[in-house]
Amino acid sequence: MIIILKKDVTQQEIDHIEGKIASLGLKVHVSKGTERTVLGVIGDEAVIRNQPLTVLPGVEQVMPVLKPYKLASREFRSDDTVIDLDGVRIGNQKIVVMAGPCSVESEEALLKIASAVARSGATCLRGGAFKPRTSPYSFQGLGEEGLKHLDKARKETGLKIVTELMDPRDAELVFEYADIIQIGARNMQNFRLLTEVGKYRKPILLKRGLSSTITELLMSAEYIMSQGNYQVILCERGIRTFETYTRNTMDLSAVPVIKNLSHLPVICDPSHAVGRWELVKPMAKAAVAAGTDGLLIEVHHDPENALSDGVQSLLPSKFSQLMEELKPIAQAVGRKI
Ligand code: PEP
Ligand code: MN
Repeated sequence: MIIILKKDVTQQEIDHIEGKIASLGLKVHVSKGTERTVLGVIGDEAVIRNQPLTVLPGVEQVMPVLKPYKLASREFRSDDTVIDLDGVRIGNQKIVVMAGPCSVESEEALLKIASAVARSGATCLRGGAFKPRTSPYSFQGLGEEGLKHLDKARKETGLKIVTELMDPRDAELVFEYADIIQIGARNMQNFRLLTEVGKYRKPILLKRGLSSTITELLMSAEYIMSQGNYQVILCERGIRTFETYTRNTMDLSAVPVIKNLSHLPVICDPSHAVGRWELVKPMAKAAVAAGTDGLLIEVHHDPENALSDGVQSLLPSKFSQLMEELKPIAQAVGRKI
């Protein structure tokens, strides 16, 4: 249920309405837009159905939200959500580029890649310290040591840090080091993990599950938001289809579909979507044309010897070329990069 408030509603009236809803045992989420303030009421709607809420001073309209996700929906918030990380704005006109290695491998390698991607115009550094690997015998990441290298790279380059959290038991540690916390595709429906990250107040990069629908992705965002953390960035990273030529199939239509359904920023990860470095460039361009708010791209100075995902990693020189080639495409769709 959403309650649309009158344009001239006073704070006293808002407090009164919130108190009334809380007394019914329901949760209220406030969304202040440029035009209107909207209250999202979450909980058993049957409790509220027969309450004459429209008579309360300050209330303009009471509307049910028919979609299963509420806080993530456009109905709840018509303005786009812009996540501001000390000036790096995600969901704004400027497309945000997050680039870096699949895994943090060593301090030296990370600093080398970080300074290269920063020079080319990336504003965030990606790199996994805790890695979800298909095989238990593959490199699992450096853990806390990897987080320390990311911290050093942030200090040296000014890049914001994006890194994955796999286990609620590591949440405190990862939140201490990261600027944006990634929930990987394999954990998109790990509901305890989603609930845990919802308790923090840092942006969450939520990747679409390998076989998840857009509605399921938005329901997972809802888990995080229902805990009070509204800073969720959605990420299309390819889905499983019958096609095996590429690692996954990049569902580009997800970008305009999600933009229509939700106010949350949407970014694309062409690296994991296609799984081959030579296809990253065209798909990154297509993502920009489709209206993505950001790109997540794997870059490695020595892909041949990378400890994970070398096949899909761009050399820094190729990444720099891509950044130049993206500029006219961004401009053509009214964006900057
Ligand atoms: C990653 O970005 O490092 C990663 C493992 O991606 P995904 O969860 O999309 O497979
Ligand atoms: Mn990877």
